[in-house]
Amino acid sequence: MTSTARPPAHAGTKDYHSYSFWLETVGEDLTPRPSLPGPTNADVAILGAGFTGLWTAYYLLRQDPSLRVVVLESEIAGFGASGRNGAWCNSAFPVTPGELIRRFGRDATRDLLLEMRGAVDEVGRVVGAEGIDAQYFRGGQLRVARGSAQVPAIEDAYQSARALGMEEDLRLLDADETAERIRITGARGGLYNPHCATIQPARLARGLARAVERLGGEIFERTTVTDYEGGSNPRLSTEAGEVRAGAIVLAGEAYLARLRKLRRQVLPIYSLIVLTEPLSEAQWAEIGWEGRECVASNRYTVDYLSRTADGRILFGGRGAPYHFGSSIQDEYDSHEATHEMLRHTAREWFPAIEGARFTHAWGGPLAMPRDWMPTMSYDPSEGVATARGYTGQGVATANLSGRTLADLILGRDTAVTGLPSVNHEPRSWEPEPLRWLGARYVQRGLARVDDQAERTGQPPTGKTLAERLGSH
Ligand SMILES: Cc1cc2nc3c(=O)[nH]c(=O)nc-3n(C[C@H](O)[C@H](O)[C@H](O)COP(=O)(O)OP(=O)(O)OC[C@H]3O[C@@H](n4cnc5c(N)ncnc54)[C@H](O)[C@@H]3O)c2cc1C
Repeated sequence: MTSTARPPAHAGTKDYHSYSFWLETVGEDLTPRPSLPGPTNADVAILGAGFTGLWTAYYLLRQDPSLRVVVLESEIAGFGASGRNGAWCNSAFPVTPGELIRRFGRDATRDLLLEMRGAVDEVGRVVGAEGIDAQYFRGGQLRVARGSAQVPAIEDAYQSARALGMEEDLRLLDADETAERIRITGARGGLYNPHCATIQPARLARGLARAVERLGGEIFERTTVTDYEGGSNPRLSTEAGEVRAGAIVLAGEAYLARLRKLRRQVLPIYSLIVLTEPLSEAQWAEIGWEGRECVASNRYTVDYLSRTADGRILFGGRGAPYHFGSSIQDEYDSHEATHEMLRHTAREWFPAIEGARFTHAWGGPLAMPRDWMPTMSYDPSEGVATARGYTGQGVATANLSGRTLADLILGRDTAVTGLPSVNHEPRSWEPEPLRWLGARYVQRGLARVDDQAERTGQPPTGKTLAERLGSH
């Protein structure tokens, strides 16, 4: 895929390579697996072959190889956010540590955040154990204060880690120390956290799918779940018939908003990415970044960067508008104004890339719950499990979800089944048109707050209505 334009689908088949650089360079032809041939029974039936569905299947089968686990995927494994993301496998949780402490207390927060660190390790362990060529690289994460307005946020993040006794291997960096790692214009300091890796996400998703199959799991692609039912007879419905199971798992993240029963549970928000061509040695000498850390600044509107294994800069960010009715369409993966803003910002950050070509641009939907708090839940009386609402931080979190859902479904009481994310029930989003009005208001408001902070050098107050409604 060399531009934002995607070739038209022919005869109902999509060019799956065109959905991201990662899918383009996945190293396989992406011919869909067979669809569900007809009604069937399973012990566990899973909607969605992204990281959440696949990790859940993986840990279920690891613990009990006798289970019949069936995964239904409307496109192909790795089609969703899992095959398109910014490559960060990161220990951060979508809700800030300060807010987690306020909601759940210090000990529960610490347990959760330690499990998130463990998830980064666990992804690396499984990738090695299963021989998945996912380019897992443990470079850590660097939050950069770009401009003086962002310095307090870095210091606050460090103090939050201290409050939890988790600051030991974090490093607060001044401007010079930051520049030793990476030269970004306007960088006043940074916070380095070693608990982060980069991955080739499509390879991870596709490799995991094969690992699930090796364990005896069955994956049916091009099979859309149209409805589900819990209760005495849990089932997933498709055009080919129902899959009846002891437990069903809803692992469709943003796409869950397409199911009538879950329409208001998550808000699909598009995150978009641009990618440069491989940079020259001279350009890299100017930029530095030998450590290949995952890099972000502290804007509400979110930016995330990674350096690919083949020497490109990936620059991602939010800002694309929410679509009325929580609509998700392939055409929304491209939003030229946002993609152009990302290219412009990348050049501002790295003058060395002036003149470099941007070869790829793509995007995809992520899911925001009303309170930004992911849920990992299972109701044994209904036989319905779900994990969702990662707010754009789902790579490592989905691994934690997979282990958690497997333990919950198997009735095991473990360290992860007592975490505050378990059986958390956020309230629903407002009905339309309020949802659209609110989402657009917050998106525009936060962008204004970011711009003002950059212009004035003053940190955001946290008190504007948009900040109160739209940040946690
Ligand atoms: C552009 C972008 C960048 C991101 N960057 C990062 C990052 O750097 N780090 C990070 O931690 N997180 C990032 N995220 C978020 C992260 O990728 C996701 O949170 C994570 O991949 C979610 O995994 P999932 O399996 O729950 O959902 P998905 O990967 O979206 O998978 C859901 C799957 O379910 C299928 N499906 C949906 N509905 C149905 C149905 N009715 N029937 C059958 N199948 C269905 C879909 O086709 C899809 O394959 C990013 C997200 C986006 C969009």
